[in-house]
Amino acid sequence: MNVLVINCGSSSLKYQVLDMRTESMLAKGLVERIGIEGSVIIHEKTGDSEKFKLEVPMANHTEAIAHVLEAITNPEHGVVKSMDEIGAVGHRVVHAGEKYCSSVVITPDVIKALEECIQLAPLHNPPNLAGIAACKALMPNTPMVGVFDTAYHQTMPPESYIYAIPYEYYEKYRIRRYGFHGTSHKYVAERAAEILGKNIKDLKLITCHLGNGASVTAIKNGKSIDTSMGFTPLEGLVMGTRSGDIDPAISTFISDKENLKPGEINDILNKKSGVLGISGVSSDFRDLETAAEDGNERAILALKVFAHKVRFYIGAYIAEMNGVDAIIFTAGVGENDIGMRDIICSELENLGIKIDLLKNKVRGKETILSADDSRIKIMLIPTNEELMIARDTFNLCK
Ligand code: ADP
Repeated sequence: MNVLVINCGSSSLKYQVLDMRTESMLAKGLVERIGIEGSVIIHEKTGDSEKFKLEVPMANHTEAIAHVLEAITNPEHGVVKSMDEIGAVGHRVVHAGEKYCSSVVITPDVIKALEECIQLAPLHNPPNLAGIAACKALMPNTPMVGVFDTAYHQTMPPESYIYAIPYEYYEKYRIRRYGFHGTSHKYVAERAAEILGKNIKDLKLITCHLGNGASVTAIKNGKSIDTSMGFTPLEGLVMGTRSGDIDPAISTFISDKENLKPGEINDILNKKSGVLGISGVSSDFRDLETAAEDGNERAILALKVFAHKVRFYIGAYIAEMNGVDAIIFTAGVGENDIGMRDIICSELENLGIKIDLLKNKVRGKETILSADDSRIKIMLIPTNEELMIARDTFNLCK
């Protein structure tokens, strides 16, 4: 069966077509500037040296999906003869609240449940739902599956997810920690178990998804028991532009001093903070490292603060799980930033964590980075959220 994976943002859309007999990617693509002037689709057929690019107005997600379907069935750069050859569609959906702890076939009831979660993810769930509606309109007979960023963390125990604020806010508004990046944490954890030749149920893992958005998860016996993101993706690690954990009193303090509204504070904490906020240089770690090499003190500080927070969570999760068997790095920074992995893993020998600096000189390739005498394995595993979505979709629709 071929599966189409759709990841719909507010003005962009990523897609992949996978052949599930071999789990190989047949094509992938990106639509940008949906609903904005200059809409464009960039489509890449696996094995083709040239990408297909078309600039054409796309007023909404339905028009964008129509172009995606055209691209994947196109006689020249397409990968299927007709849409009949797409057996199912898997949709990435950010927030399923407490409703789903695993992927589900999308029914009218599921759509209703996801609409109820819009208040929890007002920026993310509406475009995800728009993508589902667009596919439903254009491929009414193809089964669809929702794969949720929050689902994997639904196994967290209450002591991990309850905030110490009046309990009525949990009861009234479902304010609790949810966690995100679940598909990625699950993928790399399962892959780590495979590489180590162990049953995931016998392992304690710490997965570090370090991208522009970043989170760390403690996985005990195959289940997420804690993760650094919370009610929203703002909590936890320092990120590209997000503050991560801060004293909540800072919000009201800045609001008073600068005469800012709650929405403006939210914007500052989500878009102007993190390593960008500290450095004033960039949210991109490559730029920060270049600036740091040139002696930029604030870029150096931003990198140190980022590493400090990752180490902080690793230590906390080792305590929570009473040990760890492997620490896994993934996503843009985790897969590519050799220097950052060095700093995060340095001087942890007393915990049994010893990185091999030579083995660590690698980017984007599954590798064991720890020294042979390191009690705890350190691993680099590139994430593959699309494959995970396609797997869940295939398993629910085959
Ligand atoms: P997201 O999916 O959250 O947008 P990614 O996982 O794609 O993020 O990670 C993007 C980030 O990865 C970039 O902002 C950049 O900081 C970092 N990154 C990518 N390549 C490198 C590299 N070679 N060295 C250091 N950082 C890198």
